[in-house]
Amino acid sequence: MKVLVIEDEEKIHTFVRKGLEARGFSVEVSDNGDDGFAAASSGEQDVILLDIMLPGRDGLSILKELRAAGNATPVIILTARTETNERVLGLELGADDYVTKPFFMDELIARINAVARRSSILHAGRLSLNTLSREARYGNEEIFFAPREFSVLEHLMRSPNSIFTRDQLLEQVWGYGFDPQTNLVDVCIRRIREKIDHDGHKFIETIRGVGYRFNKSEA
Ligand code: CA
Repeated sequence: MKVLVIEDEEKIHTFVRKGLEARGFSVEVSDNGDDGFAAASSGEQDVILLDIMLPGRDGLSILKELRAAGNATPVIILTARTETNERVLGLELGADDYVTKPFFMDELIARINAVARRSSILHAGRLSLNTLSREARYGNEEIFFAPREFSVLEHLMRSPNSIFTRDQLLEQVWGYGFDPQTNLVDVCIRRIREKIDHDGHKFIETIRGVGYRFNKSEA
């Protein structure tokens, strides 16, 4: 899981980075609002931890602009005990949760896992799918899928690295209990690939004689 930490206080971002990396998270730190906004705009993170008082852009304006731009990455705001108004405003602007500084690492991790679980966003590298709004992006670029293409990709991305046979996809995505003797699945996968494969990355792997698998590690 990829976490972006936008926090200027070194003591805090160092503590957070160490704690999260020790538990296998991949962590990126921005220590000012402008860099933080640029990093968050890439849409590549699973969760963003956002301080409010920052040099450059402040946390609430970052949050507001991300949401206005359709970026739905879960955000947890890091607030001081006195920042009650900012906390409320943050939640109103679309933050998913908050923690009050100082906090325990275990609490932060529980909250990160909780917002990630509730999130409707599926990620693989620069590719992201919002399963609620059914919007897809590669970086900042929107990708347009036919409804069935979106469903197949979502199905594969929800179980990365699992192999699905054509029959399983026909049954689980199309709802067919029989093989219509067509190449429906292969045609659909080909169309998805044309839209998502960039720079030589192959997100969907063909397992010869078996089926397909979404390769998250390739992304
Ligand atoms: Ca601060």
